[in-house]
Amino acid sequence: MTEQLKNKESALKVKKGIEQPSSFNPEAVQLFKSSKHELLSVKEYVEGIKSGNRTILSKAITLIESSLAKHQKIAQEIIEKSLPFSGNSIRVGITGVPGVGKSTFIEALGKQLTNKGHKLAVLAIDPSSQRTKGSILGDKTRMEELATDENAFIRPSPSAGSLGGVARKTKEIIILCEAAGFDIIFVETVGVGQSETAVHSMVDFFLLLMLAGAGDELQGIKRGIMEMADAIIINKADGDNLQKTKRAKHEYENALHLFPPTGSGWVPKVNICSAITKKGVREVWEIINKFKNLTIENGYFQRKRKEQELKIMYETIKENFWDNFEKNRFVKKMLPAIEEKVLKGETSSYQGAKELFDIYFNLFYK
Ligand code: GDP
Repeated sequence: MTEQLKNKESALKVKKGIEQPSSFNPEAVQLFKSSKHELLSVKEYVEGIKSGNRTILSKAITLIESSLAKHQKIAQEIIEKSLPFSGNSIRVGITGVPGVGKSTFIEALGKQLTNKGHKLAVLAIDPSSQRTKGSILGDKTRMEELATDENAFIRPSPSAGSLGGVARKTKEIIILCEAAGFDIIFVETVGVGQSETAVHSMVDFFLLLMLAGAGDELQGIKRGIMEMADAIIINKADGDNLQKTKRAKHEYENALHLFPPTGSGWVPKVNICSAITKKGVREVWEIINKFKNLTIENGYFQRKRKEQELKIMYETIKENFWDNFEKNRFVKKMLPAIEEKVLKGETSSYQGAKELFDIYFNLFYK
């Protein structure tokens, strides 16, 4: 390389006296480095995350989502090292049937929050779907404004897997996002049914979005999910629908009275809002803040997080134990024969399980 070229740091022609822009985007350089099958060191990931570098954050999340043992090992180290810098956020679960307006609502509330300087991460849980890269793109366009907001970070659900697995990974992603400085985490359920319970087990506040139905207002959402809600917000309170939502509000309020108290000292709230006109959206944030203040003061907030940690520990044990059991070569060898005996009715399922346990545990105790 000639001297002349070496000194020429940018291809851009810049006027004298004006600072020369760097010819490389440092984040892009990191991306390039880490996309070439080349993993960064754990320290580089952790430092990158702590400095709020979203490219590195994204790469670390990809490691969490990877099923390769090598990636998992690094991911666990990154999580361990990020843990001391996590926890400083409010985690909000947002659920509701498809079409209720979750993404419109998240965009409306999210923009208000990022405009105030908050850093918002939006994660999704959808264990049922076999999403492709195409719909990840779809996700981005669902929240167009947030997707280009530098104070927001949108990450779609880890693609398919067991609900437990997806939930555990989402919890780990929350830790990394918090370490990266995101002080508000929204976890949206995309699938309907089981995932609400999983989301509930990882958030501080559980928000249920509803629609004012034509007939029975309580239709469509299981009672158990309503019982978990810290707030029920009836969306689409605009135009001709406004009166209907007001009536629905009273009906939900009456229904909530019949539910047992939650132990948080908080009485679940019912409100109406329009994610489109944004009327009532700010009030939802006020409700969340009131909940946070009350439960931090009475100790419930911290207690619940600790209980969630314990739950994760037990789930991890269960999952690891099953993994180890299933992969054990003696168990593996005997499994088809025992399965066969159970299918033929020669052995009961309990006896079959006992035989396999005996094989497994005898390996350790003999
Ligand atoms: P999601 O499936 O729960 O994420 O729902 P979307 O946010 O994609 O919204 C579904 C449809 O409802 C879209 O056509 C939105 O424009 C519309 N929608 C969302 N919020 C409102 C609202 O407050 N009022 C009205 N009138 N329409 C809304």
